[in-house]
Amino acid sequence: RPVGEPRASDFRLEEMPVPQAGPDEVLLRTKWLSVDPYMRINQSKQPSWMAPHPLNVVQSAAAVGQVLQSASPQYAPGDWVQCYSGWQQFAKLHNSAISKIDIQAAPAPSYLHALGMPGRTAWFGLHEAGRVKAGDIVVVSAAAGAVGSLVVQFAKQNGARVLAIAGGADKCAWLSAECGADWTLDHRKFTDSASLSAAIRALCGGVDVYFDNVGGMISDAIWPLINLRARIIICGQISQYSGGLDVPELGPRLMQHLLYQRATVQGILARDYAHRMDEMLRVVAPKLASGELRSTQTIIEGFSQLPHALGLLFGHTGAAVRGKVMVRV
Ligand code: NAP
Repeated sequence: RPVGEPRASDFRLEEMPVPQAGPDEVLLRTKWLSVDPYMRINQSKQPSWMAPHPLNVVQSAAAVGQVLQSASPQYAPGDWVQCYSGWQQFAKLHNSAISKIDIQAAPAPSYLHALGMPGRTAWFGLHEAGRVKAGDIVVVSAAAGAVGSLVVQFAKQNGARVLAIAGGADKCAWLSAECGADWTLDHRKFTDSASLSAAIRALCGGVDVYFDNVGGMISDAIWPLINLRARIIICGQISQYSGGLDVPELGPRLMQHLLYQRATVQGILARDYAHRMDEMLRVVAPKLASGELRSTQTIIEGFSQLPHALGLLFGHTGAAVRGKVMVRV
């Protein structure tokens, strides 16, 4: 199990025979593989919404690929599909574990981003848990990332005013120019929550919706700024994943702000909305096709680069990445 941030030496690359598809199975050649912060949660020995990831098995992950061989009447060689086949170049899967995608309608990688799990997280997190409405002040952390960059755009499309928090001047400039953020803030310029809080207050006053992807010092700074009946959406706590889940960090006690402002905090999980994927796609796919929504991706080339790509999501190493990080196999 990784100690601290995940790194290449935590993984082993193994060659194995290519499997054959059995009854109702397909053999898939993976083309695009996802790297996601939740992988580090599940690499901790602490249980989360699921048991810890077992050791010495394929790293589980979302994938997009093409059917090579099919023993299922529902699939033919050449079909494009999405699934959770994990970090492997070839995968044998039961037909119930895959679903077809239309790569004429949208480029294949977007099914790992705006038309996939991050899109669902951003959409339902902001609309259902966040109950966003015109005029709200929405603050998004890890705003230049896979989920965050979509939340910023969805919030703007709802008529909210958006403060996007990200690491580095380049990401902040991109969030203003390409995602439409009203204000941006580089969290790396701050070493304490009091000065970060003062900077946020100076930009946007109070906060109606806080879409929290990071936790830690950024949350310490934002909770004291929430407005009456604010909604705090706990989507992720990435600042805590590389060690803090095993040995929790203690911070300021902030519950009184919920009391004063009669605010709500809600944790959200993408999988709870999986059965409503079509509802999200009916709205989001046309926005993507028309250019109203941007699905920005950082593509890392080569299967063997998967651990490196995962590491880019953590700490301060990811300065160059934008939107959804994924690997082209
Ligand atoms: P991402 O934002 O594309 O990548 C992670 C980003 O987090 C990094 O680029 C970095 O951005 C920031 N970060 C990493 N370590 C940090 C630290 N120690 N302190 C401050 N910022 C740090 O990843 P994503 O896939 O969109 O996920 C974002 C968050 O949402 C994660 O917490 C993830 O676990 C969560 N998530 C939750 C669900 C769900 O179902 N609840 C689904 C998907 C994702 P900067 O360089 O800008 O700081």
